Amino acid sequence: MKRNIIIVGSGPSGYTAALYAARANLNPLLFEGSQPGGQLTITTDVENYPGFPDGVMGPELMEKFKKQAERFGTEIKNQMIDKVDFSGDSLKLWSGAEEFSAHSVIISTGASARLLGLESEKKLMGYGVSACATCDGFFFKDKKVFVVGGGDSAMEEAVFLTKFASSVTIIHRRDSFRASKIMQDKALNNKKIDVLWNSSVLDMLGEPDEGGLKSILIKNTIDGKESEISADGLFLGIGHTPNSEIFKDYIDLNDKGYILTFNNSTETSKKGVFAAGDIMDPIYRQAITAAGSGCMSALDAERFLENLHS
Ligand SMILES: Cc1cc2nc3c(=O)[nH]c(=O)nc-3n(C[C@H](O)[C@H](O)[C@H](O)COP(=O)(O)OP(=O)(O)OC[C@H]3O[C@@H](n4cnc5c(N)ncnc54)[C@H](O)[C@@H]3O)c2cc1C
Repeated sequence: MKRNIIIVGSGPSGYTAALYAARANLNPLLFEGSQPGGQLTITTDVENYPGFPDGVMGPELMEKFKKQAERFGTEIKNQMIDKVDFSGDSLKLWSGAEEFSAHSVIISTGASARLLGLESEKKLMGYGVSACATCDGFFFKDKKVFVVGGGDSAMEEAVFLTKFASSVTIIHRRDSFRASKIMQDKALNNKKIDVLWNSSVLDMLGEPDEGGLKSILIKNTIDGKESEISADGLFLGIGHTPNSEIFKDYIDLNDKGYILTFNNSTETSKKGVFAAGDIMDPIYRQAITAAGSGCMSALDAERFLENLHS
């Protein structure tokens, strides 16, 4: 059966698109992918999502998003889309050997924050370790925090964190930054910012139920010496990877892999395919902006379908 709308992704943008599409009687089918609920499921307190004056836990918020989308009849599949073919009028998607087709597709596959891949990082995410300074900086008033990275993201996060933290130390593997000159100057001229050059993070120490992150194990990349430094917070500032790989042959992306949208809308370069959330937004990357563009994408798809059927 050819669906009206298939939504790929179950973060704030995907579920909001589903909510709007379902309420417009378009019977959307949504694929959750490998991270049901999206990025917010790996964090704890979300204090900046409007409507929750006392804050809300990330996983709980996403459970509410899901329930609301389901209430109006969204069909949800706990599957991943691993291949698409958007070359014809009929938009085709595959989950394993199973084929699906749709008149319109909303891509809401997000951009994953790059992590170091340590077990302790997973355990302490939301407990002193974060991948989003805009989201979590506020929790680190007068605290000693560290930022890992050497690019523009790390500089930006470090400068932002000086608004709250008592000190910010950038940990970088090499003896120079990759960041643009202007961003480096901003960071290096800030009195609250220090740099630990030629250093990499070997481990993060602490327990979630015992106050979270306590210290970081650092290795000097030149002499191999290891040292443990006490820390209240550690931010990963090593960038994001937009989850756009399977779409790249069919729709236009920017040089970093983010999906390009046109006409002040969520339209992509392929008719009938729309993009919402972090996958098309390298700038704001917040749950509320993702939800906002998710709403836009459903309204755009609805209009597209009306014209198609009229
Ligand atoms: C640690 C952390 C803390 C954060 N805290 C906050 C906060 O406090 N406040 C705030 O506003 N924002 C916060 N953010 C940012 C916020 O989580 C993101 O901006 C938001 O989740 C983006 O939503 P999205 O809908 O674009 O997709 P995402 O949440 O990135 O979800 C992407 C979805 O796509 C699915 N997917 C990917 N590929 C496929 C595929 N091939 N097939 C099917 N499904 C697929 C995934 O399974 C996932 O469900 C935080 C982010 C992180 C990492």
